[in-house]
Amino acid sequence: MSRFLSTRFAGLEAYTPGEQPQDMQYIKLNTNESPYPPSPEVFAACNAEQVSKLQLYPDPEGKRLRQKLATLYGVEMENVFLSNGSDDILNFAFMAFCDQTHGAYFPEISYGFYPVYADLYQVPATQIPLQEDFTIQYTDFCQKDGMVVIANPNAPTGLELTQEEIEQIIKSNPDHVVVIDEAYVDFGGTSCIPLVKKYDNLLVVQTFSKSRSMAGARLGFAIASKEIIADLNKIKYSTNPYNINRLTLAIGEAAIDSNDYYMENCQKIAQTRTKTIEALRAMGFTVLDSVANFIFAKTNQMNGEALYTGLKKKGVLVRHFNKEKIQDYVRITIGTEEQMEIFLQKVKELLQEEGKA
Ligand SMILES: *Cc1c(COP(=O)(O)O)cnc(C)c1O
Repeated sequence: MSRFLSTRFAGLEAYTPGEQPQDMQYIKLNTNESPYPPSPEVFAACNAEQVSKLQLYPDPEGKRLRQKLATLYGVEMENVFLSNGSDDILNFAFMAFCDQTHGAYFPEISYGFYPVYADLYQVPATQIPLQEDFTIQYTDFCQKDGMVVIANPNAPTGLELTQEEIEQIIKSNPDHVVVIDEAYVDFGGTSCIPLVKKYDNLLVVQTFSKSRSMAGARLGFAIASKEIIADLNKIKYSTNPYNINRLTLAIGEAAIDSNDYYMENCQKIAQTRTKTIEALRAMGFTVLDSVANFIFAKTNQMNGEALYTGLKKKGVLVRHFNKEKIQDYVRITIGTEEQMEIFLQKVKELLQEEGKA
């Protein structure tokens, strides 16, 4: 920390993103990116004509893309907000909807960025423990006096709450925003977007980073009541009105135009997930039932750290969280069929080596 940093950030512990090694080639199963490339339409939209317009600012309202998203999700354009990755929306939500008296409530085991935002804005955060089996008890999130944030499906578990349970949470917190982070919903979860019409306190957050193969482009969106979208716009126009660049807007539109391509990829990933879970269980692993593009698994033959390190040495990156209740586990992103065959082969080798040692 430098002598320049405000003392109010002295205790701030920043988020640590998963490794993005720039040197050697790994089979990268550590940050839940799609193993599939963007659609041909996205390649075509990223063209010289777009580059030639880069001296002009982009549309600050992102109208064309918002209209396409509104049509796809059956809402109005005024219900849609765009941002530079969905992290940006989460940031805005903590900034806009929390304060000293109305803090944030989220699961103890969930996306690691939530506690960072709470710290950043110095709002009280209540981290609610999961059940023994890693499920969320929805009643724990009812009748709170602040903003509720739930990743559904949750990360890193891959488990989800039903739409009925989410609805109970929304209904019981009518005076506070309920943020449902649906970063992984396209891989087999159920979206709460239909509930936006019924409840003005629901903020659904999604991203192009995972299911739409665009993590590198930084594009997220929210769907909520016009009231909430107007609040988010107030923050956006007070920080960075041109928060999405011209190229990203263009390829975002092309991605929605080729939605079927991405939804087929999601189905492929779901099939590969089923196969991988079965194979790991056959090797004695404990694997949670995931509806996301990752799985959460442990073996009693070695701890999570050793599994992570052993796989890394063999050229496969997975994610290990050094957190008490989940340190036996690793989170494995579902890659292509071929990548997962190699992954399983490397796991087998590791277990054999461990058995001999
Ligand atoms: C990946 C992820 C995000 C952020 O994604 P962006 O790349 O910023 O759009 C948000 N929430 C969860 C739960 C995630 O896993």
